[in-house]
Amino acid sequence: MTAEPDAVTETFAFTCGDCGHTWERTFKLMFFTDPGRPDIQEYVDENDEPLRSPLAVAVCPRCGSRAVQVSSPKPDSGTGTDGTPPG
Ligand SMILES: [Zn+2]
Repeated sequence: MTAEPDAVTETFAFTCGDCGHTWERTFKLMFFTDPGRPDIQEYVDENDEPLRSPLAVAVCPRCGSRAVQVSSPKPDSGTGTDGTPPG
């Protein structure tokens, strides 16, 4: 057994409040369990760069606005429920 942290993948959907652009970004949420300390969660982006929160990078790539809404992360399940193949 190794002590590697657990990680889950979460995809957030962003909507720009200024230009209406929508996009998605996928983050990894790492769980560090350390005896004697509360559980620590840390987001990392595609480049494994640590983030305070996905909201911290919520800037519209089209117009640069920070008036961005973020929807709840979707579970990163491979198959949908409507039978449509991914992609
Ligand atoms: Zn925008």
